[in-house]
Amino acid sequence: MIAYLECFVHENDTESRPDDDVSSLFKALDLQGSMGPTDEASRDFGGMNSLAPLFFIRPSAADDVASDHFRVVRANNGSVYADVSGGALWEDVLKRCVFEYGMAPRSWTDYLSLTVGGTLSNAGVSGQAFRYGPQTSNVTELQVVTGKGEIFNCSETENSELFFGALGGLGQFGIITRARVLLQPAPDMVRWIRLVYTEFEDFTRDAELLVTRQDEDYSFDYVEGFAFVNSDNPADGRPSVPLDPDQFFDPTHLPQTAGSMLYCLELARHYRNTDDPSIVDMGVNRLLGGLGFVERLKFQVDLSYLDFLLRVKRAEEHAKANGIWDAPHPWLNLFVSKSDIADFDRTVIKKILKDGIGGPMLVYPLLRSKWDTRTSVALPESEIFYIVALLRFTPPYPQGPSFGNLVAQNKEIIQYCTKKGFDFKLYLPHYRSQDDWKWHFGNDRWSRFVERKTCFDPMAILAPGQKIFPRVSQP
Ligand SMILES: Cc1cc2nc3c(=O)[nH]c(=O)nc-3n(C[C@H](O)[C@H](O)[C@H](O)COP(=O)(O)OP(=O)(O)OC[C@H]3O[C@@H](n4cnc5c(N)ncnc54)[C@H](O)[C@@H]3O)c2cc1C
Repeated sequence: MIAYLECFVHENDTESRPDDDVSSLFKALDLQGSMGPTDEASRDFGGMNSLAPLFFIRPSAADDVASDHFRVVRANNGSVYADVSGGALWEDVLKRCVFEYGMAPRSWTDYLSLTVGGTLSNAGVSGQAFRYGPQTSNVTELQVVTGKGEIFNCSETENSELFFGALGGLGQFGIITRARVLLQPAPDMVRWIRLVYTEFEDFTRDAELLVTRQDEDYSFDYVEGFAFVNSDNPADGRPSVPLDPDQFFDPTHLPQTAGSMLYCLELARHYRNTDDPSIVDMGVNRLLGGLGFVERLKFQVDLSYLDFLLRVKRAEEHAKANGIWDAPHPWLNLFVSKSDIADFDRTVIKKILKDGIGGPMLVYPLLRSKWDTRTSVALPESEIFYIVALLRFTPPYPQGPSFGNLVAQNKEIIQYCTKKGFDFKLYLPHYRSQDDWKWHFGNDRWSRFVERKTCFDPMAILAPGQKIFPRVSQP
């Protein structure tokens, strides 16, 4: 039924033995799987912390996770949705929706071997979010098992505090066991485009222009961007930009004014197999008209919709073969408001990160109005804000930089943003003290977060690893 409940209890949670809590939850859920101690789930992708969970609940069969909760429904109001298990991987949801129904969710993450419940507990952001909002804006109902072991269906109108609390709630209020995900017809093909910029100002002007164009016939279906180093480093330099091994980034096309850091807009436009290729070209060229990229540094490929959405899977295979997938990943994800992003570029991107990070440095704008502020996600105040994702992929020390130095660099960046009074938030936040969490949420949101915790998980048994709430022996 659910993949695992790592978020439920941790071994170092010594104040009380939570075996009874686990057993009652196990019974309440009528799980057919097995339960037992294991260190299988003691490490995560970050590779920075290791903590053995007390129990690991394994579904009795793949069906418990995959098909038990999968049905596509056409509602009376015309919307189409899929009911999927919280433990299902987005890539499986994608394949099933496309192959069996010709439909697909509207909003994605870049990497799809993540669970539905896991990304909904954060936000779920990729290049479609400018139009549809994050994944948390694209679900209409959840089934949640609270910290009291109670099972609720919840939505905007039913048990709404739990619904909005669980979305972006970092697993603090309940375990999402089912989600109703909005679907749209899946396109067949995607034109995937990368455009190179030398000036941050031009890059942000065009990126903001593209994300604020909301007419679907006159806008791209995906808008992202990244910074890269003006070097021949394959991981984060010019060779990281072309989309196909046959394409070559010729640096002689760069203007002489180009600095040591360059920028790339990454765009995609959906189309159907039956569309006339010349019409597709015309449509894309119309959308590119007036943009200020370096004209001879435009890269594009056509690929199937599935191949486009599964593009990071190929990078994963490559990284696994090189041994850098399993190395520690001290990633840093931030939301930085439009008003502070130029300063961020001048100091953080151009100075602190001038040597690159061994992987993508995503920088692209999002629109606050596409996010529902009743969810638990903390956002900057301004309508346009940027997601900055430092996706470090360096080989383990001593081949690569020491892990401690990378963590120190992340801290330096956060300190700079704080010192300058930037309007910013950590995305996928991780703090060590409750005071830091209070600061993260701000007074009003923190009060609401605490109220929801008191209501849905009074003993604070869920996701203790986040260090937001200490265990309570009696509610
Ligand atoms: C390689 C990689 C690429 C990523 N790319 C993106 C991206 O493009 N966009 C983006 O927005 N995010 C991205 N993320 C971050 C991702 O959204 C979070 O790490 C998310 O928690 C991953 O889900 P998971 O299934 O791996 O969760 P897990 O690692 O299994 O769980 C992490 C935490 O999420 C909570 N949680 C998990 N499942 C549930 C549930 N069913 N109910 C309640 N709480 C739950 C718990 O607090 C748990 O401790 C990426 C992460 C990785 C590792």
